[in-house]
Amino acid sequence: MKLDGDNLKIVLQKQGRLAQLCRELLRSAGLDFEYHEGRLFSPCQNFPLDILFLRDDDIPEYVQDGVADLGVVGLNVVQEKAAQVIQLDALGFGTCTLSIAVPRKSSISSVYDLEGKRIATSHPHIVEVFLDQRKVKARIIQISGSVEITPSLDVADAICDLVSTGSTLRSNELEPIEVVLKSEAFLIANAQSLKDPKRRELIDRLRMRFQSNLRARCTKYVMMNAPKTALEEIKTILPGMKSPTVVPLAEDEMVAIHSAVPEELFWDVIEKLRKTGASDILVVPIENMVTG
Ligand code: ATP
Ligand code: ZN
Repeated sequence: MKLDGDNLKIVLQKQGRLAQLCRELLRSAGLDFEYHEGRLFSPCQNFPLDILFLRDDDIPEYVQDGVADLGVVGLNVVQEKAAQVIQLDALGFGTCTLSIAVPRKSSISSVYDLEGKRIATSHPHIVEVFLDQRKVKARIIQISGSVEITPSLDVADAICDLVSTGSTLRSNELEPIEVVLKSEAFLIANAQSLKDPKRRELIDRLRMRFQSNLRARCTKYVMMNAPKTALEEIKTILPGMKSPTVVPLAEDEMVAIHSAVPEELFWDVIEKLRKTGASDILVVPIENMVTG
């Protein structure tokens, strides 16, 4: 199979924590493509887009060098590689922190206690910058995986590693003492591609689709019946996205009200609505939310 030079190219992680989430993001944006394990390249059937699947460490450089126009990768990798790419949008998944952690019984309790100590990490560049900014001199030991076992092997006094739930740290009797970076998956772009009008148009179309899907994921659609007399109060409860849709019902004194509600406010809103006399409250997920 050959790459089509006019098509936009996006590079995703082949295997690992972000791989499936990235493919889901593309699919939910209506993009149709084949995928099976071991595949390095897939043309998209219904959009001028080719998808490349690679190790995440290579993604920033491929985008920087223009091999691909776009990429999806953790912010931690973009910063570690110090790649010259444009960070377009945070994608809300793959969230984690790059944190310094030490054995529970350690006397190290802040970054300043690391002076003269050994710190193991797979993110040596980020750690070096972090320590330099704080004028702390420590020995950075570069490890590519299983960083969390290095203190118990007496290879390091502290580690700097990615943490999501913290369970890996806990099971290795380590505790976090400092957050170096908050990370999540980002859509990144090649600077030249953004300047090319044809490519820019395709990139903007894709971004619009991704964003409408990400917005929808954190919003619910709520429908309810309510007495007309409660309408004004209900409007003040529904968070100000847009005015709700109000539909008359056969019963004269009742109306149906529809509105989108952000997920984080959802239970608060529902509890308040019930107090106004709203009933038959239905909540449905939203697939896509195109605004503006
Ligand atoms: P690859 O084989 O592509 O090099 P990898 O082993 O470097 O994969 P993964 O473990 O699949 O990487 O993690 C990919 C990204 O997922 C990380 O760079 C980070 O942005 C994000 N992530 C989220 N939570 C975690 C976590 N608890 N541990 C590691 N990475 C995490
Ligand atoms: Zn990697």
